[in-house]
Amino acid sequence: CGIVGYAGTADGADAVDVILDGLSRLEYRGYDSAGLAVPTPSMRIHKAEGELSALEDAVPRADLEGTVTGIGHTRWSTHGPPSDVNAHPHSDEGNRVAVVHNGIIENYQQLRDDLVDAGVTFRSETDTEVVPHLIGRALDRGAEPEEAFRLAIDQLEGSYAIAAVFDGSETVYAARQDSPLVVGLGETGTFLASDVPAFVEHTDRVQYVEDGDFVRLTADGAVITDAAGRPVDRATETVAWDP
Ligand code: GLU
Repeated sequence: CGIVGYAGTADGADAVDVILDGLSRLEYRGYDSAGLAVPTPSMRIHKAEGELSALEDAVPRADLEGTVTGIGHTRWSTHGPPSDVNAHPHSDEGNRVAVVHNGIIENYQQLRDDLVDAGVTFRSETDTEVVPHLIGRALDRGAEPEEAFRLAIDQLEGSYAIAAVFDGSETVYAARQDSPLVVGLGETGTFLASDVPAFVEHTDRVQYVEDGDFVRLTADGAVITDAAGRPVDRATETVAWDP
């Protein structure tokens, strides 16, 4: 029920700190499990059913020191009961991509059946897990990460705020349809969240992502494009927020 993303500068905050802190500020939205993925230098995914403290206990902080990119999630389960396995992020079979999702993918059963027919093994009972496998299939066919992400999102029906990171890459990709998503432009990097409180202690300059938008987040900022890949202009607003 909450998403956090961060693409930090080299001297930015530790990704794990930004993500766990951001998730705690989204707790008011409700959740039954939580998780995070840090993609550099290589993909690490940690998740746990229950309170955020369970995730904090599961994260080997020493191993993740100095990493400045990641995504996090608090889950309010709709498909598959609360469990460690059903918690997000979800990944493809090779852990090349990690995905977090808020919302419901209405056509997931058809997509899942097709992927299973193609030989994909699913680990969870979620609707979300089709997304990393669709991305993985596109990577198999030679697509670059951004193209693979777009090809996967194009196949989805339903509501989603989705963020993804790729093994070894400091870029965060995101998309939205009928689920809130906002970008934060800061000095120490670029932030992504379901709602402003997640990152408002880092920056008050925000861009609201709109339905059908795709976002590419790097430490330098965010590039927002439409379904055809054309840049769209989303106003940068300064939020007045009492943290
Ligand atoms: N439908 C997804 C699931 O059940 C995401 C739920 C959410 O928005 O947290 O895992």
